[in-house]
Amino acid sequence: MSTYKYARIPAGGERITAEGDRLRVPDRPIIPFIEGDGIGPDIWAATRHVVDASVTTAYGDEREIRWMEILAGEKAHRRTGEWLPEETFRALREFRVGIKGPLTTPVGRGIRSLNVTLRKVLDLYSCVRPVRWIEGVPSPMKEPQKLDVVIFRENTEDVYAGIEWESGTPEADRVRAFLTGEMQAAIREASGIGIKPISPFGTKRHVAAAIRYAIDRGRTGMTLVHKGNIMKFTEGAFADWGYEVARERFPDETVPESRIWNGEDADGRIVVGDRIADAMFQQVLLRPDEYDILVTPNLNGDYLSDACAAQVGGLGMAPGANIGDGVALFEATHGTAPKYAGQDKVNPGSVILSAVMMLEHLGWNEAAQRIERGLAGAIGAKTVTYDLARQMDDATKVGTFRFGEEVVGHM
Ligand code: NAP
Repeated sequence: MSTYKYARIPAGGERITAEGDRLRVPDRPIIPFIEGDGIGPDIWAATRHVVDASVTTAYGDEREIRWMEILAGEKAHRRTGEWLPEETFRALREFRVGIKGPLTTPVGRGIRSLNVTLRKVLDLYSCVRPVRWIEGVPSPMKEPQKLDVVIFRENTEDVYAGIEWESGTPEADRVRAFLTGEMQAAIREASGIGIKPISPFGTKRHVAAAIRYAIDRGRTGMTLVHKGNIMKFTEGAFADWGYEVARERFPDETVPESRIWNGEDADGRIVVGDRIADAMFQQVLLRPDEYDILVTPNLNGDYLSDACAAQVGGLGMAPGANIGDGVALFEATHGTAPKYAGQDKVNPGSVILSAVMMLEHLGWNEAAQRIERGLAGAIGAKTVTYDLARQMDDATKVGTFRFGEEVVGHM
């Protein structure tokens, strides 16, 4: 194991290794965590308590996570003078699986966002967000239980790649001059200009990851969500390359939806279809139970994840992960909610559910199921944090850590 200046490698732990795209998980894996800023320390303390209890309840003394704190955000800046020390990236690469709380975006220091930097440097190319209703969570839908999807959002390309030029700058004028002069494009004077790159490389590795996820978890459908009717060579190509990956790399495990429409039996294979993005927003409202894994480019996925999360009760209970070839980083999807920092008040549900995803990623499904049962029990008993309590009748409002203890109590 390499040496770290700030982080301590916990005694008795072992490294998670990989064989091809499969993880080899020892009984005492070392898992790095980033506590996070603002409400991070509160929600992390509750989450760690819940995860440790789930592993003990499921496996007794046989398994245990050896947590290793790594620094990022304000805590890192206080201790090291840096927002994201180099060794934090190194630890995530070395130990392969990590979990984090939310991080403040430092303003005006040349860093766009610590989260974006982590994703970029570690090449975490798929953002994975399962969206499923937990019984008892207040929802604006009549039948929230009908939505059970996993959104795979591409993380590195699209208009989010950050290639853009401000209106009126010499750079924007030069790009416009090239496009209007040499490419015969019509672009108004003084336009701000952004570029939307979508590549076969970026698309195919992302879609392949979604298919492997579907196979591992026995999911039955995958929908490529795109706006290819308008943006043919980016979004349309995304769908074409997606079908190509399914056909060429997973011929026995997948079947295109068109063949099912022609009367073929799915026969246990994953049915691969596609939808235009605007229609997809209608479908998740009107026919949610017909959808399973939704694979999207970056921008569509950003919108769709929050819209779906709202259907099952909002971002407070929405988990996520950013996954690349060697590293997976699980995280809360909300921010640092600074006005509640240190008050032991907010809902730790989002990080707890991210930890459920992490345990499933390790193959520790028994522990993951215990947490899901515990969460459902605590929410069913209406012993919840302020955000859920204010939407429920007769709820008992509890603090962050106490909510964690309630989850443990219902495992
Ligand atoms: P935010 O931190 O997500 O908070 C917005 C509101 O959402 C809160 O005021 C609260 O609503 C509710 N909320 C968030 N987390 C909650 C929880 N665990 N339990 C209950 N309610 C919760 O968004 P923000 O204020 O826009 O962003 C603050 C900072 O977080 C910024 O620096 C931003 O850059 C950063 N950020 C980080 C991440 C990340 O690390 N992944 C993601 C997004 C934002 P009420 O006021 O209604 O109670």
